[in-house]
Amino acid sequence: MYQWGDSRRFNSYSRFCKAHYGGRVQRLPIDAGFSCPNRTKRSEGGCSYCSNTAFTPSYLRENGNIITQLNRGKEFFKRRYPSNNGYFAYFQAFSNTFCSVNHLMTLCKKVMEVPEIQGIIISTRPDCLPDKILDLLSDLNKITNLCIEIGVESFHNDTLEHINRGHNVECSFKAFEMLRKRNILACAHLIFGLPYETPHIWMEDIKLLNKLNPDFVKFHQLQILKGTKIESEYEANHDSFHTFTIEEYVKFICDYIERLSPNIVIERFTAEVPQRFLSISHFGFTRHDALVKMIETELAFRNSYQGCKALY
Ligand code: SF4
Repeated sequence: MYQWGDSRRFNSYSRFCKAHYGGRVQRLPIDAGFSCPNRTKRSEGGCSYCSNTAFTPSYLRENGNIITQLNRGKEFFKRRYPSNNGYFAYFQAFSNTFCSVNHLMTLCKKVMEVPEIQGIIISTRPDCLPDKILDLLSDLNKITNLCIEIGVESFHNDTLEHINRGHNVECSFKAFEMLRKRNILACAHLIFGLPYETPHIWMEDIKLLNKLNPDFVKFHQLQILKGTKIESEYEANHDSFHTFTIEEYVKFICDYIERLSPNIVIERFTAEVPQRFLSISHFGFTRHDALVKMIETELAFRNSYQGCKALY
């Protein structure tokens, strides 16, 4: 039994859900029709790797109505995971706090009325949390299970500038501080593989992640998607990208989580995008569940676990 309360070798999101909600809670992605300030307000047109189409399930693109989206999601996941212990409404597409307070509150109240919805997850940018929105989130946090997902992506300002993120590292730290002050759970989203970054740099960055101390973390390998600016950059200059085979990634992730604070719950280790959107695939097609098994096997082989070499 590890300090997070079960015998898995990392502090897993499934353990968190079991402890807090009695079992698996499936997130249901919603496309509420938001946009993103990094695409609309800046002439450069968004992050260089961005293709929201690839991350948005097709049933969402076909259905504007968020209640229809939730109900279709429930139907789908009920078949796949019949023993689900409820659902989270997951405002996933684009930046879901880039709107008026009233609009966001109306949408949240609507989804909370849907049967079996246990809570709300809102994905956004660290620079999209003005005080009015934070006050709304604080109110929401009192009436439902709320979590805010923040795209941190990198701990290096030169990388963030290079990929045209439109915010810096300090902004990410501020966002987590503001959410923590309001007792709102927050998840950090990070990408491994952005140009000019290396495994050595990511290992060093763990100190910053441990200092950020999010409640949850999601790790994604960089996926080079068709039609994105980063696809052209990759074609012109492979050498500035560190790419992983699946075996290298498993070893890297194990090294990484050995150094990660045991308090941080890990939600994901990879992103899964339908193959048709990928320009280049170094991984082949490996499902997240299969990757998690490989990581757990490697940790067992090493007889190690999350935080056994934690860096602070
Ligand atoms: S912040 Fe998100 S939605 Fe906006 S451009 Fe970047 S990746 Fe795309």
